Amino acid sequence: MTGGPSLRGDHHVHSAFSDDAVSTPAENLAAARAAGLDTIRMVDHVRVSTTYVPDFLAVVRALPAVDGLRVLTGVEAKILDSSGAIDAPPEVLAALGAPDGADRVLLADHQFPGPDGPWSPRVVLERLADGSLTPAGAVETLVTATVRAVHRAGRAQLAHPFSLLPKIGLSEDDVPDDLLDALAAAVVATGTPVEVNEKWRCPGPRVRQRLRAAGVELVASTDAHVADDVGRYAWLRGVEGHV
Ligand SMILES: [Zn+2]
Ligand SMILES: [Zn+2]
Repeated sequence: MTGGPSLRGDHHVHSAFSDDAVSTPAENLAAARAAGLDTIRMVDHVRVSTTYVPDFLAVVRALPAVDGLRVLTGVEAKILDSSGAIDAPPEVLAALGAPDGADRVLLADHQFPGPDGPWSPRVVLERLADGSLTPAGAVETLVTATVRAVHRAGRAQLAHPFSLLPKIGLSEDDVPDDLLDALAAAVVATGTPVEVNEKWRCPGPRVRQRLRAAGVELVASTDAHVADDVGRYAWLRGVEGHV
């Protein structure tokens, strides 16, 4: 089977510009080279208030060229609410794909995109328990917000899609085919890659196969927070369709 993510790429690698990661971009570059990768996307966490992005991009752009290794950039931001607002500085979003901007924004389901802003998994669980939110309604809101964020960003990548579901007591089995198809249509229309994420082990086989069949570009990612993890795929090696 073809069309799976190439394991010679790692499309989601954090550096110490993220509070919770430890390696420098140079260390991640060396690890990518040692792992024989052909592509690395260097990414760090942002919020609306983040100011370090120009410094991060300058550091990445100053890295020495490595033969056969393509270095891409990005910022990772959560989807804030059901309108698809993105938790990144507006000027960073406006500069995506520009010569002095980051290449893409990685859209993350770190929180549930509620109608009035991000809901923690605990809040979602409470609302599911008291019946003010249904599982089907939660899934529809999550997918619809993601589709809206994809269109708003223009240049996105889906980070660990559906990693939120287990945290709110749901699974990918709760996502109906028509919502997967709506998501696939949005990412295909915008040329948005979708990660198969080693750290979060998602998405699973049904979602991968349906997205792939719709022509979605799947990319491999480790979500490494330390250079030793760059390009290391224990789980993904067992996933069908990788090359
Ligand atoms: Zn994330
Ligand atoms: Zn990440």
